Amino acid sequence: MPEGHTIHRAARLQNKRFKGKVLRSESPQGRFDSGSSQIDGQELRKIYANGKHLFYEFDSGDFVHVHLGLFGKFRTLSLPTDDPVSENCRWLLTSDTDRLHLAGPTVCEVIDSDQVDAIRRRLGPDPLVKRHREDPVEKMAKRLSRRTIPIGAAILDQKVLAGLGNVYRAEILYLIGLDPFTPSNQVSIQDLSALWSESVRLLTLGERAGRIVTTEPADVGKQRARDLGRYERLYCYKRHGEQCRRCGDTIRTADIDGRNIWWCPTEQT
Ligand SMILES: [Zn+2]
Repeated sequence: MPEGHTIHRAARLQNKRFKGKVLRSESPQGRFDSGSSQIDGQELRKIYANGKHLFYEFDSGDFVHVHLGLFGKFRTLSLPTDDPVSENCRWLLTSDTDRLHLAGPTVCEVIDSDQVDAIRRRLGPDPLVKRHREDPVEKMAKRLSRRTIPIGAAILDQKVLAGLGNVYRAEILYLIGLDPFTPSNQVSIQDLSALWSESVRLLTLGERAGRIVTTEPADVGKQRARDLGRYERLYCYKRHGEQCRRCGDTIRTADIDGRNIWWCPTEQT
């Protein structure tokens, strides 16, 4: 599933192409027929990202809410193009210069601003939303204070922290040296604060690069970040049985709440 950096990057790049333009809106697949025709011919004011949700605000005050889920995919193209529109295209947005093609999302619906606010209120602080950077640690601590589930499970809950997925949760817990099985209500404020600042740092890097890179080049014997090979970009995600890049211990894996986590038993305590 795409993590928050992918969603924010999509919003930023799509804004460059479509913001402020009058757009043709269609649903070639048919499953978004009434919604897409409701906003056809309107001007797109702006696209916002929050956690793994996208909101397209149109002139009329209507919003299109998109959640990619596991299989959703965007494709943007400059026009003219020979590329055919595929039959499974749920939502097709076209300007005079560009085309946005969305297939396979979990959610694609027209909603109003009250519904947008309701979705946003349910989400925890998002490391990539600047105004969320005021007292996020306090908000997280509040939502964790009565929970005993492992912190590794809690930070995938979008109500606690919005935007993390399976790769970032393993890497961030590794970088702050926290055992993923620590009960959520026993995580110190210092650790929560480190968790937040590492999330901001890494998701910001991921948003810019369009991929997840968490390793320091020196830890894999390289000098510069751009020299990192494909298998050198992460510390522990999917590296079970391999040596920890920093201490040499064996990276372990286990199931937490139905999804695998990876960690270094020496450094994460
Ligand atoms: Zn280690």
